[in-house]
Amino acid sequence: MTARAGIIWTTLLILAGIFSLAFIFFTLFPGQVPDAAWQYFSPVEVERARRYQQIMRLVSILAFLAKTAFLVWLVYSARAAYWSDGVLRLTGGRYYPALVIYFGLIWLLLKVVGLPFNFYGSFIVQHQWGFATQNLASWWADYLKSSFLDLILSGAGVILLFWVTGRWPHTWWAAAGLFLSGWLFVSTFLWPLLVAPLFNRFQPVTEGPVKTMVTQLAGRAGLKVKEILVMDASRRTTKANAYFTGLGATKRIVLYDTLLANYPPDEVEAVVAHEMAHWQRGHIVRGLLWGILANFLLLGLLYAVLKLTFTYEIARPGPYPPHLLVAMLLFLQLVSFLGQPVQNAISRRYETEADQVALELTGNPRAMIKLQVDLTRKNLGDVAPPPFIEWLTSSHPSPLDRIQASEKWGQDDNPRYSRGQ
Ligand SMILES: [Zn+2]
Repeated sequence: MTARAGIIWTTLLILAGIFSLAFIFFTLFPGQVPDAAWQYFSPVEVERARRYQQIMRLVSILAFLAKTAFLVWLVYSARAAYWSDGVLRLTGGRYYPALVIYFGLIWLLLKVVGLPFNFYGSFIVQHQWGFATQNLASWWADYLKSSFLDLILSGAGVILLFWVTGRWPHTWWAAAGLFLSGWLFVSTFLWPLLVAPLFNRFQPVTEGPVKTMVTQLAGRAGLKVKEILVMDASRRTTKANAYFTGLGATKRIVLYDTLLANYPPDEVEAVVAHEMAHWQRGHIVRGLLWGILANFLLLGLLYAVLKLTFTYEIARPGPYPPHLLVAMLLFLQLVSFLGQPVQNAISRRYETEADQVALELTGNPRAMIKLQVDLTRKNLGDVAPPPFIEWLTSSHPSPLDRIQASEKWGQDDNPRYSRGQ
């Protein structure tokens, strides 16, 4: 490892450590919520939601730290290289079988490290707080299904990645970026058709009032929304939500059945309008383009760092030795953790825009405010997370920000405020 590589790795680790400590500090001591929140929530509600969020935040940061510590240990103890040599001996020096076994081993160990946190956060805590509706067998079925999918897809990705390192030793990162960009488009297109149905059932909305509301909103938004799908989210959780997904012909708005069952029509309308706003403003494609830019940047940086760190291994002909996989995973883990503020700032901008467009479509700020209050109460959302936590991890503006933006929209002399016309 060159001195410069040492500085880069140390800087990344120190920054991730500082971010993690600050995250833990503000999780344990979140401070006061702004006074404006008391207009919509009682102290008991805020306290209860904060306790729930505290637990979920601790689980997520501890899972990150455990996985990172494991990767750091593999790299710095030289176990990563030692195991890779062992696997190569096992396969009689045959590269690709060794790579596959090595990847499988690291993947499995990372799964083992992450499992307790995953199980605690998505099963135990969800039951303790009364959100979960699925039993243990069904949780394991989900876990095994999604793990298998991850194993196959990331395994294929790793084989392709190491193959390109042998094919184009100095420009593989650009080739990998191109493959990854293509894959992002294909997977966004196919996800709703192939992956989502593995976990849930989707039914088009057929009943009268919701269907009529959707048609009217789509007309106002100038969109050809053929159907809205309802997902059987209630098989896992009592929480309500909705999302917009897909690309081209697979674009769709999905509502949780828990939303339709437990929220009044004007709030459902606000949700649908928000999702249509994402559609109308092309947020998925814009998000994909940001993702592609980030991928090229990340892969280019990865190449530069690997070249400084493993100068000797990389100079040899042929694909990179399997043990570089661990350093790659560590680098991507650290950089994507540190890059969260950028990614989330972009996401929050889109969400703010979607709320504004939704208000123009419904002309009903009261319903939007009621929706935010209801969602926050029932899902135990943090009405106003500590600024550092919001900056690092929030993909959406805080409920209080969304409520205040709707209040402001309602008060402004808004020329487009023309409900029913
Ligand atoms: Zn949204």
